[in-house]
Order: sequence, then structure tokens, then C-alpha cells
Amino acid sequence: MNKRTFLRLCAAVFASPVFSPLLTWASNNRLKNWAGNLAYSTDRLYTADSLEQVQDYIRHHRQLKLLGTRHCFNNIADSTHGFLSLNPLDKVVRLDSAAHTVTVGAGMTYGQLCPYLHSKGFALHNLASLPHISIAGACSTATHGSGETNGNLATAAAALEMVSAAGEVIQLSRRQNAEEFRGAVVGLGALGAITKVTLDIQPTYFMRQYVYEDLPLSAVRDHFDAIESSAYSVSLFTDWQNQRVSEVWIKSREDKGQAFDATPEFFGAKLATKNLHPIAELSAENCTEQMGVPGPWYERLPHFRMGFTPSAGKELQSEYFVPRQHAVEAILAVERLRDRVSPHLMISEIRAVAGDDLWLSPCYKQPCVTIHFTWKQDWPAVRNLLPVIEKELTPFNARPHWGKLFTTPPAELKRIYEKLPDFIQLSKKYDPQGKFRNQFLETNIFG
Ligand SMILES: Cc1cc2nc3c(=O)[nH]c(=O)nc-3n(C[C@H](O)[C@H](O)[C@H](O)COP(=O)(O)OP(=O)(O)OC[C@H]3O[C@@H](n4cnc5c(N)ncnc54)[C@H](O)[C@@H]3O)c2cc1C
Repeated sequence: MNKRTFLRLCAAVFASPVFSPLLTWASNNRLKNWAGNLAYSTDRLYTADSLEQVQDYIRHHRQLKLLGTRHCFNNIADSTHGFLSLNPLDKVVRLDSAAHTVTVGAGMTYGQLCPYLHSKGFALHNLASLPHISIAGACSTATHGSGETNGNLATAAAALEMVSAAGEVIQLSRRQNAEEFRGAVVGLGALGAITKVTLDIQPTYFMRQYVYEDLPLSAVRDHFDAIESSAYSVSLFTDWQNQRVSEVWIKSREDKGQAFDATPEFFGAKLATKNLHPIAELSAENCTEQMGVPGPWYERLPHFRMGFTPSAGKELQSEYFVPRQHAVEAILAVERLRDRVSPHLMISEIRAVAGDDLWLSPCYKQPCVTIHFTWKQDWPAVRNLLPVIEKELTPFNARPHWGKLFTTPPAELKRIYEKLPDFIQLSKKYDPQGKFRNQFLETNIFG
């Protein structure tokens, strides 16, 4: 978090419906999310560097939101009252080599954790497209990478330390409070302040990344399962034009005999001869090494390198999780919208995510494919387009990414999340007065 940004901020409070901050396009001196599309509704930010400070702040405030690295595109993290940042809590608390777990402060990012883990001989099972994000924020929003045997990043959480609305320290773990724990991990910031996260780790491993260009759409239609299962992690990038997927990113593990055989042709696509960015016009310098060069897991699993701007920067994002069995139908349904989608699009990405048992995970009890859209930063146009895409994906019970832009009605969320009533009960247990609620939660969860 850039502290100078906050010092320059003027107080501004919005009494806003769900999307009004997006429409505001506020001036430069307001606290914003990473992409700059959302001006938060207050600049009041407090930074805590100890558990006691977190407890104290929570006890003395009637309303607040935890703020991570601000990478969400919607107002899930917004507050009209004040923010609590745990940025300074960014240290490894304990590495338990025997139990294969690491416990970290909730302000830590994957970019900070991963090199440390590798230096100790350990690794995580997967990463998102970028390492810049906080572990607590990523788990709270069910952030995911790719790979059909890989659950989202929250599935690596084995335990949480959390401060409730009353300022009490709560310990929840997969082993000791299994059911509540499954409800709390993807918590959307609604239950309390996560102060520590314990993650499952495994022996470190090396990977190679290959990119193929111009995969015919007919190959996606006829061989989707074979394509997705061809390596540990597979991503398909497309602008939906010309009946083809522009780039296929394949991330292959060197261990366990899982190495991908990088033949010059892959289902009709051609092996790239240089590093590429998913958005072809942008420099590949920001991207992780490709061309089959071996490297540690944390320098191959993300698409973008730490220390460089991920994705495009000035952009919007939306993403929908579709149950795996409907993958091809759903992809073809979006492809039929190509002439409406493409003018506003930078790139789409299709990934696979394993099913899990976390209540508010979009992959709850269902393996999914995700259809992602990186949009040009034209919110009025995207705002009009999202219901059109959502209408096409509704027959497949598509679930939107919690941290990206969507217009799925709350009633539909209620229908497609069977554990929502249990989640509401759980949040009332730890936050009976709604201290951690905001407009997003009131509308989409508690409305
Ligand atoms: C360029 C880019 C690429 C992306 N790529 C991916 C991707 O590959 N896969 C994917 O799934 N998503 C992706 N995202 C979405 C995004 O990364 C996640 O939703 C993000 O990880 C949220 O983490 P954050 O720390 O930025 O959270 P914030 O936006 O700061 O907050 C998100 C939510 O978490 C809560 N929260 C944060 N910290 C705490 C805490 N300590 N205790 C309790 N609640 C907390 C907040 O209150 C809020 O409700 C991408 C975003 C960008 C900008």
C-alpha cells in the first residue's frame, strides 16, 4: 500500500448503491483499488502491526472493512466508515516441516511467501495469474489458478486465526472445527479480521512453461478434456475472433513423471518461438519465463512476474465459473456473442479448477471451468454487456467471481449457493451487529 497515496486523500463518503463508486471515476487524490476503476467510499485507513492493535481497533469501531492488496474490481472491500490494513503483518510465523504447513501473517503476499518457501525446500500447490496479492484477500474471495486437479488457493488453507466483531481471537482449523472452517475460509471479509493463515505445503518442484499459438476452436469443441488434462496447469487465451484460441499456456511439472511432451504442434496449435504476453500487443517482459526453460514453481505458475505490472493495468475484469460438464457448451455460448464482446475486450482466459468443499467457493462440490474477461476500462459498456453474458451462462448455473465485476441478481446467487443460509448464520455468530458488512455484502449476501 502506498502510504503517500493515503496522506493525500481527502475525506469523501458515498452513500452508494452497489456500483455507484464505479460510475464516479473519481479524481486522482482518492483511495482506489489496484485497477483504479473504483474509488473507495472513505480514505480513513488504519494500519495494525500486532494482534492487540487489531483487537483494539475492532473493539473501538462500529463499522469497518479489512483491506488487502486492493486487487478486487468490485466494491467487495469498500467501506463508508474506515479500513483496517494488516500490511505490516507480513512475516512467516511458523514453518512446520513435519506437518507440511506454513503459518503466515495475514498481510503477507504470495510474492513475499513463495521465494521463502522455495528456499526451505517447499512449495504451494498453485498460484493465481499474479503473485502480488495478499494471501488473506485471495482466500477470502476464492481466488484460483488453473489445473483440473488443483483446487482454488483457499483450498490450501488448513487453519485461520481471526478476530471477531467483539475483538475476540478465534482459532478455526480444518482438523478441529471442520464444518465452521469450511464456511469461514472463503469468508468475503464478512466474519472478522483474519490475522493468520496456515497453508498446506509440499516439497518444492520445478516447472516448464510452453505457449502454443492459434488453437482452432474446433479443437476446443472436440478435445476440450484432452487439452485441459494435458499438463498440470492449462490456460486458453482468446479474443473470440477468427474461430481460434490465440494462446495456450501450458505449465508442466518436472516431478512425478508429469512432464509435458512439447511437440511442435498441439491439437493444431503451433509452439511459440518467443515469450508472449496473453495480450499479444503487450511486452512479454512482464510475464514469467516460457519456451520450456525450467524454473521454480513460483516463477512459472503465475503468468506475471513479481515487480512488474500484471495483466494490462488499466482494465476491468469479470469471470464466471461453469460446472465442468458444461464447459464446451458454455464456451460456445460466449463465442456466439463475439461481435458484442470483442469491441470491449482485451482478452479472455479459460481455466480449469478442481471442486472443493468450501461453502462460498464457486467450485463448491463441482469442478469448474472459468471463463474470464479482461475488459477495456469502459464501465458503462461493460455494465450493459454483463447481463447479456450472464443470461447465456445462467442455464449452466454459472457463478461469478466474488472479486470481479458481475450483475448476477442476489436471488440468483441465493439459488446457486446452497450453503448461503449457513454462511449467514455463521457470520451472525462472529459478527452479530454487522460490523464487517458493507454495501456489497448487504446486497449480495444478506439482502
Ligand atoms: C491483474 C489481476 C489479476 C488477477 N488474477 C486473478 C487470478 O488469476 N485468479 C483469480 O481468481 N483472481 C484474480 N484476480 C482477482 C483478485 O486477485 C482477487 O480477488 C484478490 O486476490 C483479492 O485479494 P486482495 O488482497 O487484493 O483483496 P482486497 O481486494 O483488498 O479485498 C478482498 C476481500 O477480502 C477481504 N479481506 C482482505 N484481507 C482480509 C483479512 N485480513 N481478513 C478478512 N478479510 C480480508 C476484504 O475485506 C474484501 O472483502 C486478479 C486481479 C487482478 C487485479
